[in-house]
Amino acid sequence: MYRYFTDRAFGSNYKRILGRALCMSTKHGGNIIMRSHAPLLVDTFGRRIEYLRLSVTDRCDLRCTYCIPKGFRGFQEPASWLRFEEIERLISIMAPRGLKRVRLTGGEPLVRRDLPNLAARLAAIPGIDDLSLSTNATRLHALAAPLKEAGVRRVNVSLDSLRADRVAAICGRDVLDKILGGLAAAKEAGFTPIKINMVAMRGVNDDEIDDMVDFCLEQGFVLRLIEAMPMGTTGRNTQFLDLQPIRRRLQQERGLVAGDVPGGGPARYMKTPDGRFSIGFITPLSEHFCATCNRVRLAADGTMYLCLGQREQLAFGPLLRRGASDGEIVEALRSAMSLKPERHEFNEKPEKISRIMAATGG
Ligand code: SAM
Repeated sequence: MYRYFTDRAFGSNYKRILGRALCMSTKHGGNIIMRSHAPLLVDTFGRRIEYLRLSVTDRCDLRCTYCIPKGFRGFQEPASWLRFEEIERLISIMAPRGLKRVRLTGGEPLVRRDLPNLAARLAAIPGIDDLSLSTNATRLHALAAPLKEAGVRRVNVSLDSLRADRVAAICGRDVLDKILGGLAAAKEAGFTPIKINMVAMRGVNDDEIDDMVDFCLEQGFVLRLIEAMPMGTTGRNTQFLDLQPIRRRLQQERGLVAGDVPGGGPARYMKTPDGRFSIGFITPLSEHFCATCNRVRLAADGTMYLCLGQREQLAFGPLLRRGASDGEIVEALRSAMSLKPERHEFNEKPEKISRIMAATGG
């Protein structure tokens, strides 16, 4: 557990070996597992990387208009996906160096077979105190309880509309009932909070924002409105909606005050004064939050992406597959940290990222 790690120096007893956790004997005969003074997972801008978004597959059963292009053929071969033991090993090396939170994502994570097994392995890693899931919920009905049992604490569900025809048009399949069934199962299983991710698009679903607020208020869900990002042609062709005026309007009309939500990440939260409803605004374009970025992404094949909106990456797949030593992996993590860019350039260079969100680990 994280509390078993300590950053304290122990005079001459103190050994610093490449930031690796080490066991040492104390005067009192006890063993203390300790980290180096400076956690390894710190980038060149001093940001501590505590959060990994872990894609377990780039495949998805939906084709959301802003994400995977229709007829897309560029998926990775399943043979290239990291195996559960490879993922577990990498995260076990990252955890003593500062990683605290892991989110299972994709693609659609629930299409990866035996996901509760992976969740249980990751939840058991000392130091990982927050395991969460992003899903489109089409398969959540059957998996909510096993995933909760395995140690997943929180769930984010993508839902861009409450109208069946619109969901079908946006997602490429008529799945609203399945998603609502998945949400009901998540509630039943006891996930808290449950967050709804709505990509807000001008002329597509912006007339439903108030309906979504009311739905989430009634259901006890946290709502997060997301600005579409220019990732791949799909992202670039999406009707961008600036969320700042929406935030001001909702704040005024609903009397929202500043709020905070567990696992808040990049969203700026507001809440109703009675605290019954929280809404987050994820505004990578109208007001970016790169200065506080604490995350990296691992694609299904083990490629670590250091920024959603930049190309810097480091391939951990080949290292893990050839049985690289812990020391080599630690060195690779150091290199990855040194590559993390200061910020994205979605506004300045919207053409830069041809990679779609599903390939990155959204
Ligand atoms: N399939 C899962 C889901 O639906 O949550 C996890 C992966 S999905 C890529 C993660 C999130 O990325 C979803 O909330 C989705 O709406 C969002 N997303 C995908 N492409 C996006 C884009 N171009 N701009 C903003 N958000 C995007």
